[in-house]
Amino acid sequence: MDIFRNKAELQNKITQLKQNNYSIGFVPTMGALHEGHISLVRCCNKENDITLVSIFVNPAQFNDREDYEKYPRDVQKDIDWLKEFNCDIVFNPSETEMYPEPDNRTFDFGDLDKILEGYYRPGHFNGVAKVVSKLFDYVHPHKAYFGEKDFQQLAVIRQLTKEENMEIEIVGCPIVREEDGLAMSSRNKRLNSEERKNAVEISRFLFESREKKDEMNVEGLKNWVKDQLNKNVYINVEYFDIVNEKDLKPVHSWSESKDIRGVIAAWVGNIRLIDNIKYE
Ligand code: AMP
Repeated sequence: MDIFRNKAELQNKITQLKQNNYSIGFVPTMGALHEGHISLVRCCNKENDITLVSIFVNPAQFNDREDYEKYPRDVQKDIDWLKEFNCDIVFNPSETEMYPEPDNRTFDFGDLDKILEGYYRPGHFNGVAKVVSKLFDYVHPHKAYFGEKDFQQLAVIRQLTKEENMEIEIVGCPIVREEDGLAMSSRNKRLNSEERKNAVEISRFLFESREKKDEMNVEGLKNWVKDQLNKNVYINVEYFDIVNEKDLKPVHSWSESKDIRGVIAAWVGNIRLIDNIKYE
């Protein structure tokens, strides 16, 4: 496995591989890897000759300094793990390598980056777009893999590639969960044991809401989920919305679309977690 910290070296390697007609699959991450990330690596391995994983905690996408500083980091462990899962190349740049000068670009995703996560984390998706567009520019992978756990991010990335006419296939991969149902997240490592025990209620009520869907209208179900979760003293729901998967705008009735998803952000103590569920 090659490990590059320098983008020129990475680009040399990618150029060589492309000259030899290897297909390149790319999995961008912020490290502190878990099975969710590994599922993307597995999928990438299956569909491409070369699997490239980037590890970079991107300051531009954090709107909360403390969240950035306390974000879990364990690059050596990540690298050891990636070797085991047949990753071919790791790109682990420094902040100055990624941002040698200030990046003042602003991206316009219409309403998509202003609702839900975009509303509660202003500037977040602009920061994501900055780093992903740079990474895509260095690598021009054939395919890039993103988790449905960050459902809105996946939609933003699809729009980014469309607007910038990048010929990169964006592949969305299903959410990987802990045994009890909690969506895997690097931030789960920051929960204390009581918080961890209670955090499972987020996924539990999402799954229960799927069972209750036929008994309630959209508004009723939204309130039911929020009420159930807010009864738990450890949990504070920031938003729970029921949206059309295409544009992430709220739906008002179950018949409005076939592709409807419940999306949630909730605080468990000081840790902000997100999750989502498809309503069949
Ligand atoms: P992150 O390191 O949190 O930026 O995540 C890197 C990639 O892994 C993103 O595309 C995430 O959506 C994806 N990811 C994170 N957690 C999960 C999960 N539990 N299941 C599937 N994909 C995930």
